[in-house]
Amino acid sequence: MKYRRLGRTSLKVSVIGIGGGSFNPNKDPNLTIEEANEVISHAVKSGANLIDTGKEYDEKFISKAMGKNKERLHIVTKSEARNKKEMIRDIKDSLKKLGVGCIDIYQMHMVQSVEDFGDRLKNGVVEGLHEAKKNGWVNFTGIFSHRIEVLIEAMKTNDFDVVTVLYNAGHTLAEKLFKYTKKYDVGVLVAAPLGNGILADPKVEEERPNPGAEIMTVQNALKFILSNNNVSSVLVGSRRLEHAEENFDIDKIEWNLPETERRKITEKIKSFLGEKFCRGCRYCEPCAEFGGSLPISDILKLKILYEKYGYKKFAKWQFSFKQKAQGIKPCTGCGKCEPRCPYGIPIVKELQKAYEILSD
Ligand code: SF4
Ligand code: SF4
Repeated sequence: MKYRRLGRTSLKVSVIGIGGGSFNPNKDPNLTIEEANEVISHAVKSGANLIDTGKEYDEKFISKAMGKNKERLHIVTKSEARNKKEMIRDIKDSLKKLGVGCIDIYQMHMVQSVEDFGDRLKNGVVEGLHEAKKNGWVNFTGIFSHRIEVLIEAMKTNDFDVVTVLYNAGHTLAEKLFKYTKKYDVGVLVAAPLGNGILADPKVEEERPNPGAEIMTVQNALKFILSNNNVSSVLVGSRRLEHAEENFDIDKIEWNLPETERRKITEKIKSFLGEKFCRGCRYCEPCAEFGGSLPISDILKLKILYEKYGYKKFAKWQFSFKQKAQGIKPCTGCGKCEPRCPYGIPIVKELQKAYEILSD
């Protein structure tokens, strides 16, 4: 494993970190502590020293799944707190659930817009983070948002030591952020390196992928990101041991691809997924009519798994599971989300098609 400095925190973090989004028993009731422990143990054995989680992911579960590995991991967690009181409450709650005396990095989470950031700032969320730092409850402050303009505003306040950003071979808007992270020496963590699971063949059991899927590899997706030296660590989710074995197989990763090679990776992706495909950036969310009950990017991802990868049974099963668990609402076609998509995806049409193929 290679390690990079995480901005002004001066922590040396593994270039591949453990994405905690895959360990959420609220969304994945079949997941056991043992399975999660197996994944974490493999990652730690491979040299990973960073794990990301969040108040919304079930920190108690992650704490148990880390087991003895906890001592070897820097923990990043986060809360959607909207004011100082909530932030302090959430940090204390995280300390208890994670079973630690101090959390390495605590982040503001799911900041939806510049206005939302301004409101939370006014309501003392950042003040709460600083107070927690002063009290020794957290070592470093951070922020996570899907939107680059929010993160740029956040960098300008110089209140944050770390930022988590969506960046991958399909979604490169984050490159606008790097001049600010460099200026303020902020450590960069990358989330969703596989573009919500569409940039690498997920290798579904008992189903054969469509021809051509072999060019969609985790290694290519990670190479693209890690060739950018602004990035300190990529948080990769692994649901099962075999995923972890592939994701942490770092021997195949070239660290300094020239721009021409990086471009070849994006060209390969386009040759398989087409010019216009949903990148999972979530700029279109939340749905103006139904909020989280219509997870636009998750549905469009299932459409890609069905149509492009050919994992028809799997995609349909996932859709019906989500429908039962989350009660997905049908899109009304209001069109309010479309102008928010930076990639010009005709969301209404795409969703209609997705419902059609995934629900029969
Ligand atoms: S077009 Fe559909 S998905 Fe988009 S905001 Fe309207 S209801 Fe939601
Ligand atoms: S539809 Fe567009 S905005 Fe929404 S997740 Fe996909 S690429 Fe992003």
